[in-house]
Amino acid sequence: MPGGDDAKEQIRTRADLVEIVREHVRLRQVGGQFTGLCPFHTEKTPSFRVTPQTQTWHCFGCDRGGDIFTFVELIEKIDFRGALEMLAERTGVELVKEAPGTRERSQLRKRILELNRLAAQYYEYVLHSTEVGRPGLEILAKRGVSPETARRFQLGFAPPGGQSLQQFLSSRKHSLPDADQAGLVRRGRDFFKNRLIIPIRDERGQTVAFVGRDATGTDDRKYVNSPDTPAFSKSRVLFALDLAKEEIGRRGHAVLVEGQFDVIVAHQFGVANAIATSGTALTEEQVKLLKRFTEEVILAFDGDPAGKAAAYRAIETCSAAGLRTRVASLGEAKDPDEFLRAGGDWSLAAAAAPPEWEFWIRETIAGLNPTRPRDLQVGLEKVYGVLLKIAEPAVREAYRVKAAEWLGIDQRLMRRNGHPAPAQPGGLEPARPGKKLSVGQHILSVIAVRPEALDRVESSALPDDFNEEDRRTFGLMRQTLQAGGLDALRDRLGSFGEQEQDLIRRAWASPPPRTDDEFVAELTWRLRLESLQTRLGDVRRRLGEAEQRGDRDQVALLEMEDRRLAREVQAFKTRKDRERS
Ligand SMILES: [Zn+2]
Repeated sequence: MPGGDDAKEQIRTRADLVEIVREHVRLRQVGGQFTGLCPFHTEKTPSFRVTPQTQTWHCFGCDRGGDIFTFVELIEKIDFRGALEMLAERTGVELVKEAPGTRERSQLRKRILELNRLAAQYYEYVLHSTEVGRPGLEILAKRGVSPETARRFQLGFAPPGGQSLQQFLSSRKHSLPDADQAGLVRRGRDFFKNRLIIPIRDERGQTVAFVGRDATGTDDRKYVNSPDTPAFSKSRVLFALDLAKEEIGRRGHAVLVEGQFDVIVAHQFGVANAIATSGTALTEEQVKLLKRFTEEVILAFDGDPAGKAAAYRAIETCSAAGLRTRVASLGEAKDPDEFLRAGGDWSLAAAAAPPEWEFWIRETIAGLNPTRPRDLQVGLEKVYGVLLKIAEPAVREAYRVKAAEWLGIDQRLMRRNGHPAPAQPGGLEPARPGKKLSVGQHILSVIAVRPEALDRVESSALPDDFNEEDRRTFGLMRQTLQAGGLDALRDRLGSFGEQEQDLIRRAWASPPPRTDDEFVAELTWRLRLESLQTRLGDVRRRLGEAEQRGDRDQVALLEMEDRRLAREVQAFKTRKDRERS
């Protein structure tokens, strides 16, 4: 975006974050900061802070934060460009006009989209309503694609010869040079000939390109893609996202398969959250796009070595962007198509799909016999290689322990093998980089999959140690679990609040990496410490205010409280250190 950074800086200097936030949140000044009830999560005590000096904001409740642009993006539910335009208008900053040629390009893009729309209709007509389209219908029949599914994906057929689409477009008074730019015509001939046509649409449902599958059985290029055009960049589009996005929202995850036909068949079998790339490896841009719709993707790739390699690549790309992945096993089937046709139960496969790192580590040591020293050595080296890819230290540590278990060795032996430093005691980060869980939520996730942990939590933490939101969830879960265990939780889940439901469903869909007592003890210790620290911070803030007011009595009282809490925090930390050594 030309001039974007410049405009951004100008807006930053002219706009006042406090003023913008005030339109949505009642703010109270406390010292040099402003505080109020967070507009992004439900709370009764204010944990939302705005710091005018730095023009930043942060919520200690939901851990969101950022600058004026992120605030406007979140509150108005728009993207960065939208926030930029809105703030530019408010502050009178003029956004640099589009670079020369951009306007022309954007109009060409519009014309291409219109041509694509027409072409898709034409191909679809040829497939269903002409004799020429018969080979296309035969392919679909062979692949078991129903007429409804064909319509849903607007499948079509490009006639042989190489003139028919051009004639159709000319009859509609469309310019052939544009059709050339759209990749529909090349050197005076139709680009797609004698091929089954699969339109590629963007997430909004606009046809941006086509894929043609050879219908003669003689062309050595079985699939041909439209070239990149002003309306289409292969690396930015996810096939069927327009059809899948609602179901992705409903199920809380997307299913990524390898090819367009896999997607089409998956949708026909009710896996309506399936999508695919267009014959390329998953790109960073595609992951970013997908993240607008979900935080988790299940990979259902072919079982051959190429499919596995593609899965590893996808895991790395997703994990770098904070998108969680799981990997479904298709059993003996070679691809999702075969799996579904053989009567495979997709919802079972999806539920059983292990998290990315578990899949990768287990794959890497599969077939080794760790009781043989040579195999063990190979296994360890491979496992270290995978562990090093895990950015979050606590998650890496959890998998290090698991990997030892899978290799059948004592975990302490792995530590001495030159592996990078284990996680710090404070590093209980969530196993879900997409959404940061609080320690409280982490505990709740453990309880959701292992209710026995409840006793352990109650014996060493107080309900007050949870923040307000988590406390409510904790109370609700405890009550339900005590009344009727996991069954009751499952039965009554529908009556819980949206956030509670979300948390519990997530825990079920992707259980925390550890749920054992030792881990629970560690979590409750963290929870208690955080709660003490929050109280200490609160006292210190009130102390500052009392000092400013000159309220000596209050200052004296709060100083005492400050020392008491500080000692408690210290003692609490020391106790833990003693337990450790
Ligand atoms: Zn918040």
